[in-house]
Amino acid sequence: MLDKVLIANRGEIALRVLRACRDMGIRTVAVHSEADRDLLHVRLADESVCIGPADSQQSYLNIPAIISAAEVTNAAGIHPGYGFLSENADFAERVESSGFVFIGPRAQNIREMGDKVAARKVATDTGIPCVPGSDGALPESVDECRGLAREVGYPVMIKASAGGGGRGMRVVEEEDALEEALNLTRAEAEAAFGNGEVYLEKFLERPRHVEFQILADTHGNAIHVGERDCSVQRRHQKVLEESPAPGITQQQRQQLGERLAEACQQMNYRGLGTFEFLYQDGEFYFIEMNTRIQVEHPVTEMVTGIDLVRHQLLVAQGEPLSIQQSEMQMRGHAVECRINAEDPETFLPQPGLVEHFHSPGGPGVRMDTHLYTGYRVPPHYDSMIGKVIAHARDRTVALRRMNRALTELVVDGIRTNVPLHQELLNDEEFQAGGVNIHWLERRAKSEPE
Ligand code: ADP
Repeated sequence: MLDKVLIANRGEIALRVLRACRDMGIRTVAVHSEADRDLLHVRLADESVCIGPADSQQSYLNIPAIISAAEVTNAAGIHPGYGFLSENADFAERVESSGFVFIGPRAQNIREMGDKVAARKVATDTGIPCVPGSDGALPESVDECRGLAREVGYPVMIKASAGGGGRGMRVVEEEDALEEALNLTRAEAEAAFGNGEVYLEKFLERPRHVEFQILADTHGNAIHVGERDCSVQRRHQKVLEESPAPGITQQQRQQLGERLAEACQQMNYRGLGTFEFLYQDGEFYFIEMNTRIQVEHPVTEMVTGIDLVRHQLLVAQGEPLSIQQSEMQMRGHAVECRINAEDPETFLPQPGLVEHFHSPGGPGVRMDTHLYTGYRVPPHYDSMIGKVIAHARDRTVALRRMNRALTELVVDGIRTNVPLHQELLNDEEFQAGGVNIHWLERRAKSEPE
C-alpha cells in the first residue's frame, strides 16, 4: 500500500497530486528548489525537502537528490506529475530499482512512446492510423529524403524523434527548402534532446488536435475515458481545451477509444496515457502518446466524474480498475483555460508578486492553482500559474460559465493571459466549435495592429 507519496514536481500539479493523496489518506512529501520554499503544496505537505537550487537541472531534474529525499522520508511511491522527469524512462527505472513505486507506466513503455519514430511503429502495428510519412527515421542521404518527401507530398513537416513540448519540428513548403530544414532540425534536436534523429510527416493544413485519455491497470484491464479537443494552440502549445471534442460522434469515440484501450492491453501498459491525434475530414491520424497525467486532465474529470489522479494512485497500488468501459459516461461539456503569467500582447513571462488573488467559484467552476495573495511567481519555471475549468450541461452554457468565472478571477500585481481567453470565448468562430490548430495564430496575424 502507498502510505506516503513523494511529489516530484512543483506548482499546480504538485498541489493536485497532494489533494488526491489527502483524499485517500496518503501522507505526502513535497520536494522543492530553493526558489520554491513558499509554494502552496510545500506548506500543505506532511513533510518537505529542499533538493537543490532554483535551476531545475539541479533540483526538479536531479534524480539522485529526489531518490535521496524519498529514502530519508521513507516514502513508498513517487509521483512525477507532468513535465520535468515524468517521461524520463531512466528515472522510472531508478525509482523502481531503489525500491519505490513509480506512479506511472512501466519504464519500457515510457521509453518506447518517448521516441516518436518507435511510437509510430507501435501505433501502426496495433492498427492505429498515423499521419502519412516516413516509415522510420530519415536516412542521411538528402536525395533519399527528397524522394520520401515527394512521395508524401509537400508541405511536409520534419520532426525530431525525441521532440516534445512543441519543439523540434519544422514545416517545409517545397523541395528547395528541404535540405536546410533537415540540417537545422537535426542540429536543434541534437542540442535540445541529445538525439538528432528526425522523421517526416505530411503537414496537415487544417486539422484539429483531438486526444484520447486511456486508463489501464496491472491486471490486463484498460478503458478509454473519452476525448479532448486541444486545437486552440500557439506555437504548438495548448492554450484552451475542452471535452468532448465538438462534433465527434459517440460511434467515432467508441470505435477509436476501444481500439486504443486494446492497444494498451497489447502493450502491457499501466496507468494513464494519452493518444494524440490530428483530426481532419473525419479521419484521425496518430501523432504521439503521452505517458503521464496531462495539464488538461480536469476537463475529462469534469465530464466523466472520474478522478484521474486517484486512479493513477490506485493502479500504482496494484488495484484492478473499478470502472468498466460500459459505465464510462460523458455528461455535459467542460472547458479549461490555461492561465499564464505573461504579457497578453507580447507573451513575455511576467514573474513577480501576486498582490491580490481571488479564485472564481460557484456551480460548475473549478480552479486548479497554487496562487495565493502574497505569493511571488519565480522567474525560473514555466509561466503557467493555474487553470480555470468550467462545466455545464452543454457547450454554450460552459463557455458562458467560463466567461463568468474569468470575470470573478482576480490576479493583481502581475499580468496574465486572461484578456486573451476572454477574447477567444467571445469569438464567433470559436463559439461555433471545431476550429483547427492553426486558427489562433492565423487569427492573430489577420488582426489590425
Ligand atoms: P510535441 O511532442 O512537441 O507536443 P506533437 O507531435 O504532439 O509534438 O505536435 C504538437 C503540435 O504540432 C500538434 O498539436 C499540432 O498542432 C502540430 N503538428 C504536429 N504534427 C503535425 C502535422 N503533421 N501537421 C500539422 N501540424 C502538426
